[in-house]
Amino acid sequence: MCAAVTTLDYPVELSPPDISPYREGNTGIPYATSFESGQPGPHVMVSALVHGNELCGALALDWLFRERIRPVRGRLTLAFVNVSAFGRFDPADPSASRYVDEDFNRVWSPEVLDGPRQSVELARARSLRPLVDTVDLLLDLHSMHHPNPPLALAGPLDKGQALAEAVGTPALIVRDAGHAAGTRMRDYGAFGDPGSRRAALLVECGQHWERASAAVAREVLMRFLLATGTIDPAVARARLPTDPPPPQRAIEVTEAVTIRTDAFRFAQPFVGLEVLARAGTVIAHDGDEPVVTPFDDCVLVMPSRRLHKGMTAVRLGRYVDTRAAA
Ligand SMILES: [Zn+2]
Repeated sequence: MCAAVTTLDYPVELSPPDISPYREGNTGIPYATSFESGQPGPHVMVSALVHGNELCGALALDWLFRERIRPVRGRLTLAFVNVSAFGRFDPADPSASRYVDEDFNRVWSPEVLDGPRQSVELARARSLRPLVDTVDLLLDLHSMHHPNPPLALAGPLDKGQALAEAVGTPALIVRDAGHAAGTRMRDYGAFGDPGSRRAALLVECGQHWERASAAVAREVLMRFLLATGTIDPAVARARLPTDPPPPQRAIEVTEAVTIRTDAFRFAQPFVGLEVLARAGTVIAHDGDEPVVTPFDDCVLVMPSRRLHKGMTAVRLGRYVDTRAAA
């Protein structure tokens, strides 16, 4: 008798929170709530559920609401993003609710947002866009398919790495330029402009449904609000571990492997953060073409399980110094 084939690669340890109390919000945009401190300061936004199957960020925001934590400086906006996809979350098939029509995190270029295409995700992005246009500092909480350590995706610019280092956790910072398939919210507009002080940080808090990812999301959220001066430090410290976070390391992504054929397959069951010592190591085949590592000590970042033409299969990078280490 053969082993049962399950559609679940990893167990679902988390339960989706009830976000219905946040539907009304106060911004005129469903599931987006802003708190004004009445004091000068940046507009800080924390988003969750950009991908509908990633529960940790939604749990962290739900917790923040229930803790009744309010900004002491500037403005704090909390947004549950792809609520249509999240509404379809099914623990028996948890990957299915990543999106409804298309990936919300690939539509954030003016060409796509202003273009003729219609989808559930584009409608939501268009409704959130005027709000995002006013955000100075964005934290976008995500999780990953494979159980890797948490990663800060800091984007390609120095200001992204500086924000990741100011937050201080997670320990791994990935500098990357995103995907050929489309622009992420964290790279949208001023966030992707080196001349602007506005910045965004995307954090992958761990495996999508592992219990630990919820605690990571909560800690990242607290440290982000502390680092941006948004909340009272005593409020943050009372909710943070007493030990300081471990030192950070940075990985610079040098290229994304974009799939060119309908027959892409990895040479090994990579899960991410493997370091391949020798340049020229075959990591995959795209049709008949081998895909090889371009340099020694190449780090594989977030290999995808959605191996479709035009999408990112994996990102390749190398360890570099952080500011602290440098
Ligand atoms: Zn995600």
